Amino acid sequence: GMNRMPLIAGNWKMNLDHLQAVAFVQKLHWTLKDAKHEDDSVEVAVFPPFTDLRTVQTLLDADKIAFALGAQDLSTKDSGAYTGEISGAFLKQLDCRYVIIGHSERREYHAETDEVVAAKVQAALRHGLSPVICVGETAEDLEKHGASAVPVAQLEAALAGVAADADIVVAYEPVWAIGSGQAATPQQAQDVCAKLREVVGSVLGADGAARTRILYGGSVKSANIAGFMREPDVDGALVGGASLVADEFAAIIRYQK
Ligand code: PEP
Repeated sequence: GMNRMPLIAGNWKMNLDHLQAVAFVQKLHWTLKDAKHEDDSVEVAVFPPFTDLRTVQTLLDADKIAFALGAQDLSTKDSGAYTGEISGAFLKQLDCRYVIIGHSERREYHAETDEVVAAKVQAALRHGLSPVICVGETAEDLEKHGASAVPVAQLEAALAGVAADADIVVAYEPVWAIGSGQAATPQQAQDVCAKLREVVGSVLGADGAARTRILYGGSVKSANIAGFMREPDVDGALVGGASLVADEFAAIIRYQK
C-alpha cells in the first residue's frame, strides 16, 4: 500500500513454549542481521502465547531487537472476577503494541460473535493497544455470498462506535485460506481489502482510511508474499504457520529484496 509502513505479523497460535520462544526470537534477529535487514522499511511484529510475553518482552528490550510485540486475544473486561481472562491493561504493561481480535479460530472454537469482537476492540483501544481486527469468509460464505459480503459486515460490526482517530489494523483472512496451503490470489486479496478500506473510511474518515494498514492472511509464505505486497490496498501480512520457521519468516520480511 502507498505511504503506509508495511506490517509483517507472525501469529504463533498455541506454539513455541518459553524456551522455544527465546531461541526463535534470537534466531530471527540474527537471520535478519546477517541478511542486512536493518532498514526500517518494514515493521515486524510477533504474537506469542500469553505465557511467553514477559520472556519475549525482556529479550527484545535487553538486546534492542526492533520487533513489536502483540498478544493473540484479550478480555472484554478490564479487571475483576473473570477467572482465566487477560486484561488489556496487563498486555500494555508488557509493552504489547498490538492485540489480535476476532481470529477465525476464536470465532469458530470459542463462539466469538461480532458483538464480542466489537467489545474486545473497545477494550484494546481503552488500554492503548492497536487491535488487529481479523475478518474473513468461509468457503461456504464464498459460495453463497461472494468474497466480500461477510468480511465487510464483520468489519462494520467490529468498528461500531470506534473514534475517527483510532489506531487500528485490519487483517483480511479468508477462512478457506488459513492453514490450507491454498492462499487467495493477490487480485482476490486486493478486491476485498479495497472494500474493507471503504468500511474503514466510513468510520474513520478519509485520513483514517489512508492511514490504516490492511493485511492479508492465509497461507502466506516467502514464495507468494511479493505478489500480495504489490497490491495497492494490501499493506502487509498476518502469517501463521510460516511465522514459526525463522528462515522462512525472515524471507517473508525481506520480500522486497
Ligand atoms: C492465521 O491463522 O492467521 C494464518 C494466516 O495462518 P496460516 O498463515 O498458517 O495460513
